[in-house]
Amino acid sequence: MGAPENPSHNLRVSAERLWGNLMQAATMGGTAKGGVCRLTLTEEDRQARDWLAKQATALGCAMSVDDMGVMYARQRGQRNDVPPIAIGSHLDSQPTGGKFDGALGVLAALEVLQTLHAAGYETFAPVELVNWTNEEGSRFAPALTASGVFARVFEHDWALARADRSGIRFGEALEKIGYRGSERCGTRKFSAHFEVHIEQGPVLEREGKDIGVVTGVQGTRWFECTMTGAEAHTGSTPMQGRRNALIGAARVIEAVDAIARAHPPLAIATVGLLEVRPNSRNVIPGETFFTIDMRHPRDDVLDAMEHKLGDAVADAASALGLSAALTKIWTQPPVVFDPDCVECVRRAAARCGYSMRDIVSGAQHDSAYVARVAPTSMIFVPCRDGISHNEAEFSSQEQCARGAQVLLHAVLEFDRLLAHRHGQK
Ligand SMILES: [Zn+2]
Repeated sequence: MGAPENPSHNLRVSAERLWGNLMQAATMGGTAKGGVCRLTLTEEDRQARDWLAKQATALGCAMSVDDMGVMYARQRGQRNDVPPIAIGSHLDSQPTGGKFDGALGVLAALEVLQTLHAAGYETFAPVELVNWTNEEGSRFAPALTASGVFARVFEHDWALARADRSGIRFGEALEKIGYRGSERCGTRKFSAHFEVHIEQGPVLEREGKDIGVVTGVQGTRWFECTMTGAEAHTGSTPMQGRRNALIGAARVIEAVDAIARAHPPLAIATVGLLEVRPNSRNVIPGETFFTIDMRHPRDDVLDAMEHKLGDAVADAASALGLSAALTKIWTQPPVVFDPDCVECVRRAAARCGYSMRDIVSGAQHDSAYVARVAPTSMIFVPCRDGISHNEAEFSSQEQCARGAQVLLHAVLEFDRLLAHRHGQK
């Protein structure tokens, strides 16, 4: 005997309404090539924000804005003392961005609110749409500004003082478009946070999967290496006894690639910058400087990769008579999403009959920061050729709708979990 039918199980988002909203949003900052240029806190961003607020208000949602310009649209539940289930993403774009990166997550959240509203379905906890400010970091660096403040990674005053290339500060830009709220960013509590996003990679499309159940965000470690040998004349210096710093770099570059390949399938490692001194055709290179970027979802694997890198540098240096200095300059630890949230996404996708696979995000997202302060997970949908940060970025109406449908049911799954925890139903 099956479980008694729950009326919420039949709720369906409207693919047409969601698509209409995506196309409407894409007119605000729309480019000639069909992309979007909606840099954070510009006039185009203000237009999109105002439009979003109007849509949410029409559903009876209570709007608020915090001092980082983060917008919250809250739909009440049965128990409004319980922190809301947050759903959202970002409306800002790259200068030559697409219609889907960020906008899909915000408008899928709007679609969830519209579906619940139209069905007259009251959740146990409130459901809250969130539009995070400056995810992209194209106008103000760093990226993920507001979610970083929310998660107490960045200080308020430091964030407000970030300046764009023309010297306008983040705080001034917020005021100029009327989105500097009074609520202190980070004081609000969430029961959970779910974000729909295009994959920005080729995996789901290649495997023909509808949904990526995002289990976390990979970690990153950045290193800099300087290898020093001896400059000498290329014509008069025999091969014997040369101390060529570029050969050292070449060996390490090969080793970096091999280290990633030795930890398949998720390890990635790249030397993307190389300087040679004096960089002259008839001087044996006396010094090289290069960078190493290593990524993997697990810290223990990153530790092993880092160890191998140290060995490779030491081996190359000793074999070639060079001195070497390897420095780790930046670490972004891997993010593991909340098991309950991940399970809600998985169950939601199964309930909807969609094909799925677990996936680790290669790109950074607001959810990676929010995960530090609230149970969080993400839902990926395929995008054509894995392309994003590009005007050609594309996901179909059906692909977008599946993302929103899984978001809706992940929210309902988590809502049942909350009701259960509070001893209801
Ligand atoms: Zn994005």
